[in-house]
Amino acid sequence: MKSLWNDQEASQYPGELDLRVYTSRLLGRDTTLVLHGGGNTSVKITEKNILGEDETLLYVKGSGWDLETIEAAGFAPVRLNHMLALAKLETLSDPQMVNELVTHMTRASAPTSSVETILHATLPYKYVDHTHADAIVTLTNTAAGLNRVKRIYGNAVVIVPYIMPGFDLARLCAQAYAEQAHKDTLGMILMNHGIFSFGPTAKIAYERMISLVTRAEQYLVRRRAWSLPAPIVGIPNEPQRLEIANLRRDISAVAGFPVILATDSDPNSLAFACRDDVAVISQQGPATPDHVIRTKRLPCLGRDIDAYAAAYKAYFDEYAPTAKEPKTMLDPAPRVILDHDLGLCTVGRTVKDAAIVRDIYQHTIEVILRATALGGWQALPAKDIFDMEYWDLEQAKLRKSGKPPQFAGEIALVTGAASGIGKACVDALLARGAAVIGLDINPAITQLYKRPDFLGMVCDVTDEAAIASALETGVRAFGGLDMLILNAGIFPPGRRIDVLPIEEWRKVMGINLDANLILMRETHPLLKHAPKGGRVVIIGSKNVPAPGPGAAAYSASKAALNQLARVAALEWGKDGIRINSLHPNAVFDTGIWTDEVLQARAKHYGLSVKEYKRNNVLGVEVTSRDVAELAAEMCGPLFAKTTAAQVPVDGGNERVI
Ligand code: ZN
Repeated sequence: MKSLWNDQEASQYPGELDLRVYTSRLLGRDTTLVLHGGGNTSVKITEKNILGEDETLLYVKGSGWDLETIEAAGFAPVRLNHMLALAKLETLSDPQMVNELVTHMTRASAPTSSVETILHATLPYKYVDHTHADAIVTLTNTAAGLNRVKRIYGNAVVIVPYIMPGFDLARLCAQAYAEQAHKDTLGMILMNHGIFSFGPTAKIAYERMISLVTRAEQYLVRRRAWSLPAPIVGIPNEPQRLEIANLRRDISAVAGFPVILATDSDPNSLAFACRDDVAVISQQGPATPDHVIRTKRLPCLGRDIDAYAAAYKAYFDEYAPTAKEPKTMLDPAPRVILDHDLGLCTVGRTVKDAAIVRDIYQHTIEVILRATALGGWQALPAKDIFDMEYWDLEQAKLRKSGKPPQFAGEIALVTGAASGIGKACVDALLARGAAVIGLDINPAITQLYKRPDFLGMVCDVTDEAAIASALETGVRAFGGLDMLILNAGIFPPGRRIDVLPIEEWRKVMGINLDANLILMRETHPLLKHAPKGGRVVIIGSKNVPAPGPGAAAYSASKAALNQLARVAALEWGKDGIRINSLHPNAVFDTGIWTDEVLQARAKHYGLSVKEYKRNNVLGVEVTSRDVAELAAEMCGPLFAKTTAAQVPVDGGNERVI
């Protein structure tokens, strides 16, 4: 591992806190040191307070910040003297500790400081760096871990046995430091947890971290436990979307709410899931305490979710009979599932949560494999992991997290999603917390949004194989399908029946009608497994109740689609799937309506463009967003008891009324 320190870069960070920001980011850049909000850093700075008195503040990483992207505002200024006084107490409960941390900051808007704040305070160095470096976690999670650490570091580091993070750990570290430290001490190794380095400057503390971790890595290299052999595994190619959707439904049932299930069949994950000894090595607990908080529980093998939940509840009863609020236990759904065919599956309330669990577990896999190569992976005893999960602090965080968005953990698919009403539907669904799969024949769809909860794919909806492949990819990414918005369609130029070529008629029918039949048929088994019931919304047209001359193919295709939806409502009601249509009219902020077309149409009716746009009973302009908001609401609780409805969104049309 190399130091990323660069004098020129560092010169752009002039102050003591600025340099704290700089080296924190250097640590954050290396995922073998720090992952997703893991690790924390601090600096002690003496400043004048509002009374003009000197006061030393401990600037320590605040919760909710990642080291990789942290800014000065991400460090919470905590009064150092008060933290040192607290460190002398015999006991301090976690809620008391959090209260002291929050009430002894000098900036009201600062984030809550790290749970390891008091530990940072007790280390008598200006700069303190803490990571859960993979190499250290690997070493300390082996049977002979303590001996190995002693052999590698001699007395250059203070060694602290494993204890859950919080006040007791801070006290234990202070005690170990008092007993073991001397003038050449470079850092502190926390068994089964991670490493601290410290120093008088940001550069020294950072480079000590790099050199200490490098020594662990070199040890692993010498023992042939660093480079892992390339996995040999055949990646299964058969469609697995129904199995995945089934699995997601079961997990959601145990969790009590819909969840995202991300499937990762990369060779490493798959090879790990297929190991003969996976049941033994994977069930010994995640690699570091912070990872427990993130992954929340032990990995679950196979797909027996109910058995897992029952075991989890029994575990809870055995170890937490006196818990103050036993009902606030985390939901008993597993967060990690290892499956022979699917590889690594990770669960989260959001796509981001599931991705965090995936990243952490992929590192955990490496740590386990290296420790196994070293002679045996030995993780924390289960009881400690349990304590971590029920840590008061975590409970407090859970209580604070508030109400999830309307479609949290749910997945929607929108066709014709690159522009117009389709894009507006994507926006409306994302805004309500859904993960969205957007299909469009326009390649722009893949670049529509760069965010983890949106997956844009090029797809010709008239191509059955393309639809199947898009569904497979979408379900592997998010776990299933809850909502389907059938929007893709074409509106050909006006042509009277007596000159209508059959090719044009067939093309319109192919896109506006046949494609939707295929989409409905292929998504039905997925929608059937939607935890809260499947929902389909058809973007119809005013032309269904009030067709126009010159639009035979379009009007007929939309009317046939309307009838198809009504039949689906009859056939799918027993599966808990509801299907409703909305009939927009004169939505002009879409691709079809260029300024020239608008002007020509307005002129044709002897109206100004503005009058033409508002030519309806209410005299209002109807936008894509208006249509999309109605489509999203049709998927929500407002329409929970409604199926086969047809709702106009046209400002009121005299012919329809
Ligand atoms: Zn830690």
